[in-house]
Amino acid sequence: MPVNATLINLYHICHRELWLHAKGIRMEHTSDTVYEGKLIGNTSYQQRPEKYTELEIGGSKIDFYDARNKVVHEVKKSDKAERAHLAQVKYYLWLLEENGVEGATGILEYPKLRQTEQVVLTDKDRSDIMDWLTDIDLILARKECPGLLNKPICQRCSYFDFCYSAESG
Ligand code: SF4
Repeated sequence: MPVNATLINLYHICHRELWLHAKGIRMEHTSDTVYEGKLIGNTSYQQRPEKYTELEIGGSKIDFYDARNKVVHEVKKSDKAERAHLAQVKYYLWLLEENGVEGATGILEYPKLRQTEQVVLTDKDRSDIMDWLTDIDLILARKECPGLLNKPICQRCSYFDFCYSAESG
């Protein structure tokens, strides 16, 4: 599976989740979290101006792209800003640049927190993204699923039963 923004996001959350998702083992359809996320995507922001378009680029999909101002808007339903969200938006900016769109910026939006965060792509980010891509290739080349994360985030993960009942069984 080619790297896309979802894998970049998962890479920053859990390498096991990244591996499972990339191998096509999906549990998301039963996840309330994802459902809530879709609701926020479909309701809170349905009045968005027409200037925002959906953009498919490099195997990733940017839901809200303001082409005139070159701004990526990423909406997150979570009640906490996370490094993985920032990484995902930086990856979008990098993809745009790789495809000839220079100087794009991003805005991460957290409706539940009523908070937004400006995102720009720096030289350090460009270098980090190269490292992420290399590391992701190495993880996905592994025959064995990476180990359990054993962190509180597991409780909210759609793979929780899959991961922990397999371990105890
Ligand atoms: S339950 Fe935990 S270990 Fe399993 S995929 Fe999710 S975050 Fe990773």
